[in-house]
Amino acid sequence: MIHRPTVVEVDHAALAHNVEALRAVSGGAALCAVVKADGYGHGMVEVARTALDAGASWLAVATVEEAQRLRAAGIDAPTLLLSEPPADEAAAVVDAGVRPAVYTSRFGAALDAAAKRAQTRVAVHLKADTGMHRVGVPPDRWDELLDAVAGWGSLDVEALWTHLARADEPDADTTPQQLAAFEDFTAAARDRGVAAPLRHAANSAATLVWPDARLDLVRTGIAMYGLSPSPEVDAADHGLRPALTLRTRVSFSKRIEAGASVSYGHRWSAPSDGWLATLPIGYADGVPRLLSNRGEVLIGGGRRPIAGSVCMDQILVWCGDDEVAIGDEAVLLGAQGPDRIRVEDWAAHAETITYEIVTNLADRRVPRRHVGTG
Ligand SMILES: *Cc1c(COP(=O)(O)O)cnc(C)c1O
Repeated sequence: MIHRPTVVEVDHAALAHNVEALRAVSGGAALCAVVKADGYGHGMVEVARTALDAGASWLAVATVEEAQRLRAAGIDAPTLLLSEPPADEAAAVVDAGVRPAVYTSRFGAALDAAAKRAQTRVAVHLKADTGMHRVGVPPDRWDELLDAVAGWGSLDVEALWTHLARADEPDADTTPQQLAAFEDFTAAARDRGVAAPLRHAANSAATLVWPDARLDLVRTGIAMYGLSPSPEVDAADHGLRPALTLRTRVSFSKRIEAGASVSYGHRWSAPSDGWLATLPIGYADGVPRLLSNRGEVLIGGGRRPIAGSVCMDQILVWCGDDEVAIGDEAVLLGAQGPDRIRVEDWAAHAETITYEIVTNLADRRVPRRHVGTG
């Protein structure tokens, strides 16, 4: 039973369009739909189904739990686990039938033992650190890890891969440097007799602006949702369409007098007599508090400023001379008539990236509605 009018709407026609557009740009590379963090706040299982229908052939997740949720929903497409879990989770990895990143001999050995116990084989993706310095085997341990592979009788190396630190900066020279280091890793693997059918390096930004990174498979997250990896790599410039709309309805409205101060701290005062709307959504729903006195909302076809502090469950919106009534639709993200508020706008106001905005719209509080499916 849903009592609040606040809802995230996910447009699956936009998701499918974006998958097709990304496939077109990446040539022959396989498309791996990154659905971690509940599909970047869009709903992991629903996004996975649409992406696979639209031409993705792989999925990627951050945790074993996410992979288990996909399997429980009956989705058995090849699924990449982007980081090693603790070694004592190896049996769960085997059980979920995921293809994990491997970059330590400790985890590789634990996984091999778990695969043997389960009398099965596990495909692994050997991850090299080529300059991001987050996870991945560092260059001084490449040979040690590659030598260990020969002892793992129940593992198959399916891919060599790496991750780029600055692919969202079209001029960063670290990207060619990382790709060159990845060639070195590939050569080291060949020298040690480790053959892998696949190589991959590209996230969304690299898929869009670094052709040399596309290789055999691209791991696209943010662009599939129609959102920009950075201000310099704008999703709209690449024909991608945002899939998410966040809307609610006016829960209260009234006229206030010129000079009246509103919300916690009285940090905003009315410039004239006029209408003030209350919306039942706040920072506990994922509206950044940095939108206080900065953000805008679409009501009645117009852009209206957020007045004063964003509260936990509510915000106030200045509508000036335009009368607003309880029940009027308010769009916080997405289009109302010809106008649109972008996730990118919020990210700029909140001094963050699109990724953080949408992953904070988790459905723990705001229900999701899926439209445009099938
Ligand atoms: C999250 C993630 C991706 C997807 O990145 P986007 O910028 O959203 O496309 C790809 N690869 C790795 C290793 C990741 O952690």
